[in-house]
Amino acid sequence: MSRSAHPAGPRHADVLPEGHYTAPADDLNSLDPKVWAQTVGRDADGVVTVGGIKVTQLAEEFGTPAYFLDEDDFRARCHAWRGAFGADADVFYAGKAFLSRAVVRWLHEEGLNLDVCSGGELATALAAGMPADRIAFHGNNKTEDEIERAVGAGVGRIVLDSFQEIVRVAHIADRLGVRQRVQIRVTVGVEAHTHEFIATAHEDQKFGIALAGGQAAEAVRRALRLDGLELIGVHSHIGSQIFDMAGFEVSARRVVQLLAEVRDEHGVELPEIDLGGGLGIAYTSEDDPREPHEIAKALGEIVTRECEAANLRTPRISVEPGRAIVGPTAFTLYEVGTVKPLEGLRTYVSVDGGMSDNIRTALYDAEYSVALVSRTSDAEPMLVRVVGKHCESGDIVVKDAFLPADLAPGDLIAVPATGAYCRSMASNYNHALRPPVVAVRDGQARVIVRRETEEDLLRLDVG
Ligand SMILES: *Cc1c(COP(=O)(O)O)cnc(C)c1O
Repeated sequence: MSRSAHPAGPRHADVLPEGHYTAPADDLNSLDPKVWAQTVGRDADGVVTVGGIKVTQLAEEFGTPAYFLDEDDFRARCHAWRGAFGADADVFYAGKAFLSRAVVRWLHEEGLNLDVCSGGELATALAAGMPADRIAFHGNNKTEDEIERAVGAGVGRIVLDSFQEIVRVAHIADRLGVRQRVQIRVTVGVEAHTHEFIATAHEDQKFGIALAGGQAAEAVRRALRLDGLELIGVHSHIGSQIFDMAGFEVSARRVVQLLAEVRDEHGVELPEIDLGGGLGIAYTSEDDPREPHEIAKALGEIVTRECEAANLRTPRISVEPGRAIVGPTAFTLYEVGTVKPLEGLRTYVSVDGGMSDNIRTALYDAEYSVALVSRTSDAEPMLVRVVGKHCESGDIVVKDAFLPADLAPGDLIAVPATGAYCRSMASNYNHALRPPVVAVRDGQARVIVRRETEEDLLRLDVG
């Protein structure tokens, strides 16, 4: 195989390797605003900037790989969700998507509430001053210790996930002498249109209590009987990365039906329903996510209509977007290490991170976009696979994409829409040092989670 200094890889027209890829953009230098945070653009030199700072300068100051988070974009998304749902609804940010103390402060300032699902997330929320009554505690296997801390801190709600947990939480609330506000998580039998491993509302899975067979109704019966619990409503979360509102429609209808049954049996109108999160974002130009105001309008109409039909007072609605708020706000910046063209196939571009900073491609077959950001190029598009530096052939960051054929070691490339479930799922595989998260705003860059060091690794290894 002959190789030139910057070997051109196979072009899309030349080969048809398996995979899913769209034709390259007309101009590989363009940045689709759908997948990039709002302050991202190219300056006069062709270098990409975020918050007014060049990525070349960011790379120099903070190193690569690193996540750069557009704080204005984050706040604008919070504001849009808060505004869309209005004063009669609550927006809980799902902390598992990405949580840090700075994020908690932004949420607090922007009027959002916060979902946590572990002691660690609860500790972070409280440490950053989120009022406990604005925190919801989730999880299918909360430990006694976690429940005790949550109840003791005075969290606004605990979302009960099993019959055993109903008793467990009631018992702890009794012991602490409080009446804990709770919701019951139900599985409504809806399978969201998305990858199987991230769909959560079909019945054969670990979360929630099934509506089917009257189990959820029985859970309500038991919860209403216990003095330590104040049952405020029912919760349903149907999946992730959902674009189609039809699943929410079925879910809302079934949840409202349960409220009507509860009213008929107990004479109690539960005041709240939570329809969960799972709203999709654009990872590539092919994705068309809904805007928060469209989602709010659709959900509001469904619930109002179903409640009218059942002659119920419309409950207070809450939603729990995680990905839809933080996902689009950040990109991962990598330096290109090696460029390996495989004749007749594609070009493998290796970067200085990989599955340790973005497991989603390996885990869910997730799709991402990628762009050359340290310069522009007029070279032909080449079909690439962006891979990491880990000892695993499934260590893929971007499965199929196009980059300019003159891509070379030392170039900086960026993968947009990595704000959600990348840093929060990052690992130390191969003793990788988890990258920092740097918030950028108005020409200022500030580390909000620092890069790990080898000392951090060795500190846990007690020898
Ligand atoms: C994961 C999760 C969310 C957030 O999901 P996104 O896809 O990030 O919006 C919301 N609620 C519950 C209960 C969850 O488990």
